[in-house]
Amino acid sequence: MTRPPHTGLNLIAGEWVPAAGGAAFERRNPADRDDLVGTFPDSSAADTAAAIEAVAEGAAEWADTPPQRRAAVLEAAADRLAERADELTAELVREEGKTRAEAAIETSRTPQNLRYYAGEALRITGQSFPADDGGLVYTRPEPVGVVGAITPWNFPLNIPSRKLGPALAAGNGVVFKPSPVTPLLAQRLVEALLAGGLPPGALALVQGGAVPGAALAADPRVDAVTFTGSTAVGRAIHAAVGPSRRCQLEMGGKNPVIVLDDADLDRAARIIVKGAYGLAGQACTGTSRVIAHEAVHDALLERVVGLAEAVTVGDGLRDGVAMGPLAADFQLAKVLEYVRIGQDEGAKLVTGGTRTGDEAGFFVAPAVFTGVTPDMRIAREEIFGPVLAFQRAASLDEALALADATDYGLAAGIVTRDLDRALEFARRSRTGLVKVNQPTSGMAMTVPFGGRKESSTQTFKEQAGPSMMLFYTQEKSIYVSP
Ligand code: NAD
Repeated sequence: MTRPPHTGLNLIAGEWVPAAGGAAFERRNPADRDDLVGTFPDSSAADTAAAIEAVAEGAAEWADTPPQRRAAVLEAAADRLAERADELTAELVREEGKTRAEAAIETSRTPQNLRYYAGEALRITGQSFPADDGGLVYTRPEPVGVVGAITPWNFPLNIPSRKLGPALAAGNGVVFKPSPVTPLLAQRLVEALLAGGLPPGALALVQGGAVPGAALAADPRVDAVTFTGSTAVGRAIHAAVGPSRRCQLEMGGKNPVIVLDDADLDRAARIIVKGAYGLAGQACTGTSRVIAHEAVHDALLERVVGLAEAVTVGDGLRDGVAMGPLAADFQLAKVLEYVRIGQDEGAKLVTGGTRTGDEAGFFVAPAVFTGVTPDMRIAREEIFGPVLAFQRAASLDEALALADATDYGLAAGIVTRDLDRALEFARRSRTGLVKVNQPTSGMAMTVPFGGRKESSTQTFKEQAGPSMMLFYTQEKSIYVSP
């Protein structure tokens, strides 16, 4: 069935408009390059400046809107998204390449995020203190002002909902710059917020890539920048934001699963394969390394390879497909390049790592490498694709050292029946997230989430409920004498 392409627009000062210079980019279905999802504004720095100006002017009205009303708007936006969940699921599969089941999880989670932050709008409180003169000293939490939100493509509804939700709950204006890989889903989120009653001055949408992103980060009228994406881009944004404005970066990972000698190996293999090949390996918390105790290494490898070879790769809309395409041509090129690098470095490619299925899509067979040593690039660098690197360890100490031998510190898992060693691992792991007998990917909505080391600025944890709100509010201390 041919579906008509969308014509996407920017939202600036409440108007849906093309890029001022008329430039546009195409987004195509990664499972079928002949399917044009739509064309979207290829925004310039001038478009971004216009969006910032509009929100700088319009945000005051939203800041003065009572919290009950802000909460009601987020609830109504959540209702709208929930009503359209099936439609959004199909669009998400078509635009990003998730499987239908993966997309359905995201489209059900996003409204829940907005509801969670609607609740947070009602829980913003200050403190009062005893005063020397019998007067009053209190703190007043205020919105930060204009928030710039720059997001990746791998959760195009969910991640923006965890930025726009708390930012708007706290009364900020937002300029939203989504990934050019998933512009349609970004527009859908913005449409839902407007339909929920958000005043148009409180939110702008600027489509495009690095140009509007860099312009947004550099503009001094933007009081806080929240970014999720790669560590390389995060570094550039951090430099542009400078010391006197707020910056929150959640970045890449190189997440290991340690399997100890007492583990149930069938269970361990299922946990690893889910974490490694779910979302075609394109999750920041996806499993990219296995650190296996040498006593179980070979038996575990056999099981993981068996499960990897059983993964059905194809268009996510087709029944029975467990792994969709890579999201973009640059993703395909990067994954194939790392498969070549791994082989050149002397690791052994046991299975996968080649293109598979329909040539019109970016499909790659799940890959497993063995004989990977910590100095190899495939052991240290984020690949962000369905490539798993097996390493060996003789003890928990050695496994912990190997796990830590990258610049990243996002997520790490362990599979064992030994609670003592599991908790020791949890205590010593230099990551923001630890999973015991669970895949590295997948988090609860209400639990703090963020990385350490080069994975994060560690500026309040993303998706962190109350501490998340701290990024989007600023306290004023007020002294009153009788
Ligand atoms: P990316 O860094 O290439 O792009 C992220 C966003 O930044 C996009 O909107 C992009 O257009 C914009 N951008 C690009 N160059 C820019 C610049 N110079 N200045 C400002 N903005 C710029 O990342 P991606 O490919 O979209 O996403 C994949 C990456 O995101 C992976 O590294 C993954 O680990 C990471 N990620 C991290 C988390 C987390 O919570 N830690 C979650 C999801 C994804």
